[in-house]
Amino acid sequence: MKLEGIHHITAITGDAQRNVDFYAGTLGLRMVKKTVNQDQPSVYHLFYADERGSAGSDITFFEFPDAARGRPGAGMVHRIGWRVGSPEALDFWVERLRAAGAAPERDSDRLRFADPEGLEHELIVAETGDEPLSADHPEIPIELALQGFRSARAYSADPDRSTALLAEALGFEPVDGVWQARGERRGGLWHYDEPPAQPGIQGAGTVHHIAWASETDEHEAWRERVLEGGARPTPVIDRFWFHSIYFREPSGVLFEIASLGPGFDADEDPEHLGEKLVLPPFLEDRRAEIEAILTPIENPRLAARR
Ligand code: ZN
Repeated sequence: MKLEGIHHITAITGDAQRNVDFYAGTLGLRMVKKTVNQDQPSVYHLFYADERGSAGSDITFFEFPDAARGRPGAGMVHRIGWRVGSPEALDFWVERLRAAGAAPERDSDRLRFADPEGLEHELIVAETGDEPLSADHPEIPIELALQGFRSARAYSADPDRSTALLAEALGFEPVDGVWQARGERRGGLWHYDEPPAQPGIQGAGTVHHIAWASETDEHEAWRERVLEGGARPTPVIDRFWFHSIYFREPSGVLFEIASLGPGFDADEDPEHLGEKLVLPPFLEDRRAEIEAILTPIENPRLAARR
């Protein structure tokens, strides 16, 4: 039993429209699901990914309107790594990010930048046989597009305390000084860095949790493994598009293990993912109330089609 790399990463935004403009506009991801936070349905939960809404490419945001900026500290993810296919892709992204007002910093085969709320990303030219997971965008040639997650970096004052859970329960393997979760299809890298002196603050522009992907029929067994490893997982929660368990790993990062199925096309035509507000069945009877509270947002992909 192996985890299939990163399933999704969930962060916080204080401004849904600016978030859509950056992730679906500038970065050229596809908004694959526009829904609400299932635990707090008065706020959006926005999902961006490749063209098919694949696990491995899916960054999601809870919107807390006008949330104050947070900052990453110990026990928090502080940077998200994305694969790109070539050094030429980095050349392209330097120009595109500058034009969008970001300040990308290039360091040989990497390009670092932050989103408008300070969430850090890194584009990495990566040699891998994993399938590239890209979205179609009229301004971004497909060979230069983001290709899904490569890695995530978190802060930990004492990363050794995470070793047993990662290695024994979760099956991560040390590769060149970093951890790798690799299954049959995909892998994802996991790094710990020395934390800044100041404690972290959860807020806009910070990561809430990182989810690792499990085969759908192995999801229950992962919960047992996590329990045996000494962490305290939640019961399995049905998120409708996937099943989830959550637990804190010993360095303090909130981990989720999410199943690969059913997937985002379980309730929407793949041609029209993310175009309408989708509610899980248990919230459907509150649709009018929920829609009245949410700020309308414009998806640049749909705007371009008009
Ligand atoms: Zn999640």
